[in-house]
Amino acid sequence: MSIIAALALATIPPPPCNTELVVLGAGQDAGAPQLGNLSDPAWTDRDKRLLATSLLLIDWGQRKRFMFEATPDIVEQLQASYEVKPLLRDDGSLDLDGIFLTHAHIGHYAGLLHLGFESANTKDVPVYAMPRMASFLASNAPWSQLIDLNNISMTTLQPEAATNIQDTFAVLPRVVPHRDEFSETVGYSVVTPGKRFFFLPDIDSFDEWEAAGGPSLSALVEGHDLLFLDSTFFDDDELDRDMSAIPHPRTKGTMEALASLPADQRAKVHFIHYNHSNPIRFPDSAESQMVEENGFNVARRGDRHCLDL
Ligand SMILES: [Zn+2]
Ligand SMILES: [Zn+2]
Repeated sequence: MSIIAALALATIPPPPCNTELVVLGAGQDAGAPQLGNLSDPAWTDRDKRLLATSLLLIDWGQRKRFMFEATPDIVEQLQASYEVKPLLRDDGSLDLDGIFLTHAHIGHYAGLLHLGFESANTKDVPVYAMPRMASFLASNAPWSQLIDLNNISMTTLQPEAATNIQDTFAVLPRVVPHRDEFSETVGYSVVTPGKRFFFLPDIDSFDEWEAAGGPSLSALVEGHDLLFLDSTFFDDDELDRDMSAIPHPRTKGTMEALASLPADQRAKVHFIHYNHSNPIRFPDSAESQMVEENGFNVARRGDRHCLDL
């Protein structure tokens, strides 16, 4: 260990809890500001930028770091994760113990390229994905090169089957309806020693999932301690066109569907993956206030959740 690493180790404050979850990004795939969207206030105010949705899971006891999604913003997001849990290893690795992928849309996996030969050139970073997703990566360049050069090491997960991850927690992928051109799409039910959380950044419709045999939205909430749910659009008035055929739950619709739940259940829900057009991206908007008044939460980059009992 170098002197610098030893000093870093000595100055780390005691962990606030053993297992922690940190929001590294809460925007839709392309974040904000987007290409050509000249009126976005984030061009002039960097605090208003949206990074694509990603979560960081830290096991402080075992000194492990896991990411959910490899977004196009992974460079900034991994760096942000070092501000929460400093880099402890002195072996040139990223100190990254695993990446979980939900599906093959750009905001969720395109950042894997930064692990490749022209960038970090990592060695065997564990990447967990479902069978179609894993096969898509293995059989299509440039992703296949990450596997051929052992930059990443793939583990294939199975639907509705709990997999123990390095003796730190368990994940149970749940297949949901979504635009599945290249891969299936999953949400992850994650069971840590203290709490259970659910991460579902993309789904066409909760009703459609239930009709296909999935759980009801309220059962989903009742079955977890903390949920991060797709909230791409706020309502049907948001885009300047007919939105009736555009999938994704609306923030407003999800609040209405869960309105009868008691306050302690509603408080578990954190809206995430919001589009640049969704006004909940601005903490001072009337819509953000409405979310709060209804007892729900908007996930914000930098949010930290202790997952201990
Ligand atoms: Zn997405
Ligand atoms: Zn998607």
